[in-house]
This record gives sequence, structure tokens and C-alpha cells, in this order.
Amino acid sequence: MKIPMSSPDVSQSEIDAVVAVLRTPQLSMGPQIEAFEAEMARLAGVQNAVGVNSGTAGLHLAVIASGLGEDDWVVTTPFSFVASANCLLYERALPVFVDVDESTGNIDPARVEEAVSAIRRGRKNASTFLPRSHRRKKLRPSRLRALLPVDVFGQPAEMDQLREIARANKLVVIEDACEALGSSYKGRPAGGLGDVGVFAYYPNKQMTTGEGGALVTGRVEWADLARSLRNQGRAPGATWLEHVRLGYNYRLDELSAALGVAQARRLEDLIDRRHRVAMWYTQRLAGLERVRPPQIASTTTRISWFVYVVRILPPANRVEVARRLLQREIPTRNYFSPIHLQPFYVERFGYRRRDFPVTELLGEQSLALPFSSVMTEGQVDAVCRELKAAVGEG
Ligand SMILES: *Cc1c(COP(=O)(O)O)cnc(C)c1O
Repeated sequence: MKIPMSSPDVSQSEIDAVVAVLRTPQLSMGPQIEAFEAEMARLAGVQNAVGVNSGTAGLHLAVIASGLGEDDWVVTTPFSFVASANCLLYERALPVFVDVDESTGNIDPARVEEAVSAIRRGRKNASTFLPRSHRRKKLRPSRLRALLPVDVFGQPAEMDQLREIARANKLVVIEDACEALGSSYKGRPAGGLGDVGVFAYYPNKQMTTGEGGALVTGRVEWADLARSLRNQGRAPGATWLEHVRLGYNYRLDELSAALGVAQARRLEDLIDRRHRVAMWYTQRLAGLERVRPPQIASTTTRISWFVYVVRILPPANRVEVARRLLQREIPTRNYFSPIHLQPFYVERFGYRRRDFPVTELLGEQSLALPFSSVMTEGQVDAVCRELKAAVGEG
């Protein structure tokens, strides 16, 4: 039997919740989105949540709410899903990539500090932190406006250090927590660690709304702005055809929100089940020389597992291993494929191989194994057996 890469975990309570919405006349902008937002604010430990129709939409609104625009520079990570950098390009802001920590894959605060201080102090090497396409232009230190860390694979970024750099340099912190719903950093919930955070609910995430996302923030003005922007730029309480700013249709419909509310109420259980599956993997992969299991940082006081990503170490070869597993009907994913080497970024910004060596190393060695809350111990056994054979440690 083929093992799926990921699976949503939908129970009768979710089916009932969605069907109940279908029996009402209100399929968008009703009570479900409000209930959903209350759940998400609670999970992030902040006052405000704004539901939207994807994580990418949430990131876009977070960028606008942070006041970022044309030629503003944002220090962020190339080891991520492409949306965390694309959201800056939507507003013509510039991603300034810095490399990541090898053990977690999260943005390295030491390199962030290096880049920020070089740019802010106008040091001679400052332009080396910019993409090649921008190195000949005049350095404008005041354009550096924000940090955008990503909580990679469910582990919160090193937020205390990043916030300290942000505070000292008056930078906004946007937390891409799309992979970290339910995780904690030093006891504080992911999503609420920066000035604004974003969650996502695509079907492979810890919980799903089908498509969906949410912006979470302690700043009520930012939440109000995001609410207006998701709804075609209407002011709160304005009539249907009154638009006070350029907005979008990023609304989350009531069916999706109801699914989200029911999933959020089961989230603890979903996270526990995912944890159990992760531990089955970790037990079976312990002691291998060519497979490195995920490393959990001491600052991650609770990990809500999003994916189970191992590193395939030499002499084993990731491409070969993935091919052999697929022959045995076991799907895997190369996770992540570095953003700076995506064809569009190479063309637009002139990035090259070796620009971010740690990101590239992780990009070449990382392999996401099949993972979900509904995976059985027998399935994990089968994957691990084939993986051991594929790396020559069978
Ligand atoms: C899932 C994810 C997003 C958002 O994805 P959508 O498909 O737009 O919901 C953003 N950033 C990261 C790191 C993600 O994993």
C-alpha cells in the first residue's frame, strides 16, 4: 500500500461543522470567522487575529501593515518556502538574505547582526550583503526596516536575539510562523514572538482549513488595517461599495473557518499524535551514520511537528536515496529548495551557488519523510526499513 507524503486529519466533528454552515445563509464573513480568529489569537498569545485565505496572503498583509514599501530592505532567510520572500517583492521591498544555523535551519542571529551592523554603519563590506543586482547602487542604511525570520519545520527562530537586534536598530519583526502553530520558544507561543506573525492551514500543516491563513498581532491598528485590506479596502463598518484604500479579496469563507474552529479545538490531540509519529521515527533512526534526525534547539520548549526532515549524509546521496524510496512507493520531498537559487531569483537578483553555503548544504542533504498525525507505527517501520537499506545501513 502506498504511503502518502502527508494527510489531513479530519474527523466527524469537522464534517458536521462544515455541513452546519452549509445549512445557513451565511457562507462568508459570519460567526465562524470570528470564532476562528478568537482561537488563533489565543494560540499565539496575542490580542488580535485576522483570518485570510492563505498563509501567503497573511504574509502579504503583514508586510503592508509593517509599513514596508518600495526599496525597503528586509533581512530574511533563503532557507524557506518561497512565499516568505515573495511577500516582500509584492510590495517592491528587497529581501536581504543571510545564511542559517546548520542544526535548526533557522536564520542565524550572528549573521543577522553582522549584516545589520554593516549596513547600518555603512561599512565598506555593507554592499556584499545585498544581492549582486543592487551592489552598485548607493547604500542607503535607513532603508533597512525589518527582520523576517521563519520558524523552520516547526521550530521557532532564535527570537530573543533577533528582537534585541531589532530593538537596537528600530526594525520591525515579522514572524513567519506558518510551520509552527502550537510550538513554543522559551515557554512563549510561536506566532506571537514578533510584532506580527502569520500562520497557515494548507492541508499538510498541523491543522487545516483547506486553504487558509491568519495574521496575529498585539497591535490593534495593524489588525484593523489587515481586516480592511483583506476585504477590498473597506473601512470597518463602511458600506459594501465604499473603499478607502487599495485592498484585496483575501477573505476566508465560513466553511473553511468552521473547519478551522473544529480543528483548533482538537489541536492538542493532533499535535500529540504528530509527536508520537516523530518519536517512532527518531527511535528507529537513532545511531545511523548516514541519516541525521531533526535537532531540537534548547530554546524550543515545545515542538509542534510540521514535517519530519532528516539529513542524508555522505557517502549516501540524497538523490539516490529518494529514487530508491520512490521505487518502493515511498514518497519524499527535497525540503527546502533554497529561495536564492530559484530561477526567478537568480534572474532578478544575480544570486549564484555558494552565496549561502549552509542553506545550500541543507538544501542538498535534507529529505522530508512521509509524515502526518494519521500515520501508523507499521508505516513508519516500513519507511525506516527502506531508508536504512537505501543508505546502505540496512
Ligand atoms: C505553508 C507556508 C507558508 C504559506 O503557505 P500558503 O500555501 O500560502 O498557505 C508560508 N511560509 C512557510 C514557511 C510555509 O511553510
